[in-house]
Amino acid sequence: MSRRLSRRQRGSNNRRKQGVRVARIHAKVAARRLDHHHKLSTGIADRYRLVAVEDNLTGLGAGRLARNVHDAGWGQLYRLLEYKLEERGGRLVRVDPRGTSQTCSRCAAHNPHDLSHRTYTCHACGLVMDRDVNAAKNILAKAFRTQLPRETGKVTPAETGGPSAGTLLAEVPVTEAGTSAAGLLNPA
Ligand SMILES: [Zn+2]
Repeated sequence: MSRRLSRRQRGSNNRRKQGVRVARIHAKVAARRLDHHHKLSTGIADRYRLVAVEDNLTGLGAGRLARNVHDAGWGQLYRLLEYKLEERGGRLVRVDPRGTSQTCSRCAAHNPHDLSHRTYTCHACGLVMDRDVNAAKNILAKAFRTQLPRETGKVTPAETGGPSAGTLLAEVPVTEAGTSAAGLLNPA
């Protein structure tokens, strides 16, 4: 569409019409994405009290992955999710994404891992798992380890069932580069 636009004569009627058409399509895509993010975030906030996500938006600078993350509108999704969780007494925790896709969620071994593979395999303990679920477990464990204020006693692993409760999901869509978005823990 954009290529067609650039081929049109500058200032011509056709070019203007084409420009309006492109703008309309962009607006439609944005509205559809917002609607989707509202549904997704409401669904997650209704089911989970604690959601841990990779803090991709600040951690990756202007690299290719950061671009993908922005393109997918994750900032918007995180904002919606955060306020909906807080409305319900829950919390969104952002963690440093480093190592979350390469570390084994069972034995903590480091396995250099080709992100094009959907399956994560640990050469130390033999764990075979969907790569996004493995990353989600690491993200959640990291949230418990580094972010949650244990001293306040507000949210502790014991209270919510703990990272080993087996209720983890990787529900939020993944980026093209394959990094998992969220570790979700069912507090029930
Ligand atoms: Zn392992």
